[in-house]
Amino acid sequence: MRHLVTGGAGFIGSHLIDTLLKTEGNSVVCLDNFQTGHQRNIAHLIGDPRFELIRHDVRDPIVIDADQIWHLACPASPPQYQKNPIATIKTNVLGTLNMLGLARRCGARFLLASTSEIYGDPLVTPQSESYLGNVSCTGPRACYDEGKRIAETLVYDYRRVHGLAVRVARIFNTYGPRMAADDGRVVTNFMRQALAHEPLTIYGDGAQTRSFCFVDDLVAGLTALMQSSCEQPVNLGNPMELSVAALAALIRDRLCPGLQLDRRPLPLDDPRQRRPDISRAGKELGWRPQVSLEEGLERTIAAFEMGSAEATGTSSSSWRSPVGPRS
Ligand code: NAD
Ligand code: UDP
Repeated sequence: MRHLVTGGAGFIGSHLIDTLLKTEGNSVVCLDNFQTGHQRNIAHLIGDPRFELIRHDVRDPIVIDADQIWHLACPASPPQYQKNPIATIKTNVLGTLNMLGLARRCGARFLLASTSEIYGDPLVTPQSESYLGNVSCTGPRACYDEGKRIAETLVYDYRRVHGLAVRVARIFNTYGPRMAADDGRVVTNFMRQALAHEPLTIYGDGAQTRSFCFVDDLVAGLTALMQSSCEQPVNLGNPMELSVAALAALIRDRLCPGLQLDRRPLPLDDPRQRRPDISRAGKELGWRPQVSLEEGLERTIAAFEMGSAEATGTSSSSWRSPVGPRS
C-alpha cells in the first residue's frame, strides 16, 4: 500500500510514518514545506527505498499516486499558527481542498487530522463528537479553529458529492519525543524552561485544563481509524484531565524542584477546559490510550535531554500525583 502523509516531517506525522513503514509492503511519500517540521524527524528514513520526501506546500496542487492519504499538514502550536494567520487559513482550506481533489483523482481513502479546537472554549465537558462547539470566528485562534472546521466541512462534502472514503480524527493535545523545543506549546515550554532552570511561564491563573495524550497512543488511534469503517468524526485523546498549574508542578518537581513560576496574561480565547469523551473511539476502533502521563512525560524528557533524539521507554518512580485537576 502506498501512503501519502502530508506534514510528515512534523511531530505527529514523523511518528505516523515510522509506524506505517513497520508493515511489510507499505511505502510512504512525505509531503512537507518544513514550516514547522524538521529534517531531523525523518533523517533516519533517508535512503530507505520505501520512503520518499517531497518538499511541497499543500496550498499548491500536486499529482501523486496513493492508496491512502493522511492529511496532517498544518502548524499545530498556537504561536506558530498565529504567526501568519492568513497562511494558516489557506493551509486548512486550500491545502485540504487540494488533498481531497488528489484523493478523488486516485481513489484514495482520506484521513483528516482535525482537532479538539473545533469545540472552541467548550461549554460542556467532557466533549463528545455531537457537541457543536463554542468557537470565536473573529479571534486570534480562529485561523486554526475555523480553518479546521471548514476542513471538516470540505471532507464531508467530498464524501456526499463524490462518494470519497473519509476519516476524521479530532485530536486532543498530544505530546512526546520530536516536539520542537521552541514550538511554544505548554509541554515543550515547561520542559525547556525547567531543564534551563528558568521560571515556568504560566498563562492566566493556571486553572485552565487540558488532557494530554502520548504520541504513540495517538498514532495507534489514527491507524485504527484509517483501517476502520467509521466515517464519522472520532475524538482521539487521553481523558486524563489536569490543570496547567498541575502540569507545571509535575514537571517542576521532576526536573527542578523549587523553580519559580512566571505568571503571564491568559491569551485571548484560550479554552478554559478540554477533556475528550472517547466512547466512540472505544466502540468503533477498540482504542483507548495506554501510556500514563508520568510515563509519557518521562519518555519526552529523555528525548529532550538527548536533544530531541528518539527516546526509548523508561519508567519513573520520581513522579508525584498531579494536583488540582478540574472536574
Ligand atoms: P507540527 O507543526 O509538528 O507538524 C505539522 C507539519 O505540517 C510540519 O512538518 C509542517 O512543516 C507541515 N506543514 C505546515 N503547513 C504546511 C503546508 N502548507 N504545506 C506542507 N506542509 C505543511 O504539528 P503536529 O503536532 O505534528 O500536528 C500535526 C497535525 O495534527 C496538524 O494538522 C494539527 O492540526 C493536528 N493536531 C495536532 C495536535 C497536537 O496536540 N499535536 C492536536 C490537534 C490536532
Ligand atoms: N500555556 C502556559 N504556559 C506556556 C504555554 C502554554 O500556561 O508556556 C497554557 C496555554 O495558555 C493553554 C495551555 O497551556 O491554556 C495549553 O497551551 P498549548 O499552546 O500547549 O495548547 P492549546 O492551547 O492549543 O491547547
